Amino acid sequence: MFRILSIPRFFNSFLRLVRAAPNGPIGRKAWPMSSRLRHSRPVNATALVVPLLFLCAVAPPDDEYAAARARMVQQQIAEGDSWGREAVTNASVLRAMRAVPRHQFVPPGQVSQAYDDRPLPIGYGQTISQPYIVGKMTELLKVDANSVVLEVGTGSGYQAAILAELVKDVFTIEIISPLAEQASKRLKALGYSRAHARAGDGYFGWADHAPYDGIIVTAAASHIPPPLVEQLKAGGRLIIPVGPPFGLQQLLVLEKRKDGSITQRSVMSVKFVPLTGRKEGQESASPRAAK
Ligand code: SAM
Repeated sequence: MFRILSIPRFFNSFLRLVRAAPNGPIGRKAWPMSSRLRHSRPVNATALVVPLLFLCAVAPPDDEYAAARARMVQQQIAEGDSWGREAVTNASVLRAMRAVPRHQFVPPGQVSQAYDDRPLPIGYGQTISQPYIVGKMTELLKVDANSVVLEVGTGSGYQAAILAELVKDVFTIEIISPLAEQASKRLKALGYSRAHARAGDGYFGWADHAPYDGIIVTAAASHIPPPLVEQLKAGGRLIIPVGPPFGLQQLLVLEKRKDGSITQRSVMSVKFVPLTGRKEGQESASPRAAK
């Protein structure tokens, strides 16, 4: 807020100082000038430099975390991860991960760890997934600029933002209402207009916008939800962790063939928070807060 408010103010003071500057050390001799400038009033160096320095001090580079993010992408994702899992090589996915400001998707107390190689708590007992997993699952979706994607488990909105960098539209659904609201506001504030978030039980998908080119589930299911398979386009992919709620799950890639048949393979072991909701047998189907 301070940075946003102060930039115009300092530009104004800067312009005022330049306009009001008396003849100073930088005069006609010191600077070669065009004939138009030669007839204008000489400028005081202090008037130029002081506001600029001040401006630099109060307005850090637009994204001071860009270097940390580039390191994260290179060391944790493009070169595989610290557990020896295979690298993400899709250039568009890597570019998206370099672009999305992950530190804006974590609670204030977690910002210093936003680019670490691990999931982080986001409140309500939920997490933002490890960067490598986000990159790998996005790559497995095999989407492009014409794709329409459904995400189940919005959480912080980070995965939705990564997808929004790559596809035409992302529909994302979150069962914990306050998280859905926060993520929706955050995505809007950051300009991710292709990401559309709402609260609800993602077990049932989001039929209004089906069929989808890709569906990504970012919570562990006990089985593959049939509504998600139904809402997948022929030729589309569903990426979903399946297994016990608090144990190791298998990350599955399902593909719907043109004839409607399904192929399935397991890519790696993962550990996700559980998919809740009516069909998972633990919660009511209506959107609700966990705490
Ligand atoms: N993709 C998220 C991100 O980028 O921050 C991280 C997702 S977190 C690992 C899993 C999320 O799935 C949690 O926010 C949880 O509340 C949500 N979830 C669990 N069951 C759900 C369901 N049936 N429908 C929608 N969301 C669900």
